[in-house]
Amino acid sequence: MTSTAPHNVAILGATGSIGRSTLDVIARHPERYRLQAVTAWRSKEALFEVCRRFSPAVAVLETEADADWLRESLRDVSLSHIEVRAGEQALVEVAGASEVDTVMSAIVGAAALLPTLAAVKAGKRVLLANKEALVMSGALFMDAVERHGACLLPIDSEHNAIYQCLPPSHRGGLEPLGVSRLLLTASGGPFRERTLADMHHVTPAEACAHPNWSMGRKISVDSATLMNKGLELIEACWLFDARPEQVEVVVHPQSIVHSMVGYTDGSVIAQMGNTDMRTAIAYGLSWPSRIDAGVEALDLFAVGRLDFQAPDEQRFPCLRLAREAMQAGGTAPACLNAANEVAVAAFLDNRLGFLEVAEVVARTLDRVPTHGADSLETILHDDGRARRVAQELLTQRHANGAWV
Ligand code: NAD
Ligand code: MG
Repeated sequence: MTSTAPHNVAILGATGSIGRSTLDVIARHPERYRLQAVTAWRSKEALFEVCRRFSPAVAVLETEADADWLRESLRDVSLSHIEVRAGEQALVEVAGASEVDTVMSAIVGAAALLPTLAAVKAGKRVLLANKEALVMSGALFMDAVERHGACLLPIDSEHNAIYQCLPPSHRGGLEPLGVSRLLLTASGGPFRERTLADMHHVTPAEACAHPNWSMGRKISVDSATLMNKGLELIEACWLFDARPEQVEVVVHPQSIVHSMVGYTDGSVIAQMGNTDMRTAIAYGLSWPSRIDAGVEALDLFAVGRLDFQAPDEQRFPCLRLAREAMQAGGTAPACLNAANEVAVAAFLDNRLGFLEVAEVVARTLDRVPTHGADSLETILHDDGRARRVAQELLTQRHANGAWV
């Protein structure tokens, strides 16, 4: 493989947790990967450092003011050949650009939807770390993958694990493969053993202190509420053509088994590894071969034991809300995701209690009519409506000092 031309990679969300891990893997294999484009929102200083180190052809920031700053900073260090662009349209164009063959989708939240779809529609190899885009647009997204011949590789560790445990070709449902269920592992997050009474008062800092993984703030809160596992359940249904009842969530506090596939003959195949996203990222970059990811070998003697428990949906209602949204279908998962994004931002901003995140999501889903998710317009319309309703609920909650 080293004799062929290097892959040209675009990293959407290059300054985040996944973005930085991707840069680390790429830096280990300069003969295989060239960084063509990088994007970031707000973190312009961090993007400048990425440009200095990797000298990509294009860099994208949110605002013209940030782009001007980056242009000037790059000129000062003789890197003015790097094209600096601004705005959402630039994101979409970079994701679908003909110079790029591999796109890492590592933007957080719904903002990843349009650029990731652009990469899919341009038939790229798409490394999907972002889960919100697929949750929002499931059928539409997977149809586009098929229609445009994109190569979609899941990077979320659970889905990457399942991908590794399934036979090579797995479109067309689980039954023909002899698969009986997908076992999605969950660490249980930082509050796995907290009582409901204790969970009322947890702070954003506590929620973001994940016991096993180091991640961005939004996904860390999702992991603490188990909404992350709910979003992943929806993600698994779309990626692997599974029905919600074929996906079983298993709490596994050590996070060594990244997920499993159960077969009708009684076999259960697991993928294991350290809690380091570079394994999944390297797999996506090099599939179907394997490369060094810089990840330490798994020391099973140090791990010692593997525990498995059933999830507690009383204390973590987000998991149930997500499963119900997937069962309801249409734009319900997009509305669930939208309400959750609004609620998590409010929690991180100390405007909402931890347990109230689920409350906002449930109440939003009760109020917002959903539709068939057959067009991007409908999905974005219902996403916008759910965000407005969730904001109104927050305002009412503040005005009344309680839920009414
Ligand atoms: P992060 O917050 O650390 O990084 C997000 C990146 O996206 C940053 O580069 C930021 O500048 C950019 N960004 C933020 N808002 C944006 C917007 N509105 N438009 C364009 N760019 C924007 O997040 P992360 O932890 O790296 O997670 C990224 C995605 O990957 C999420 O969808 C998350 O669920 C998923 N994921 C992350 C992990 C992990 O270990 N961190 C694991 C599995 C899946
Ligand atoms: Mg995950």
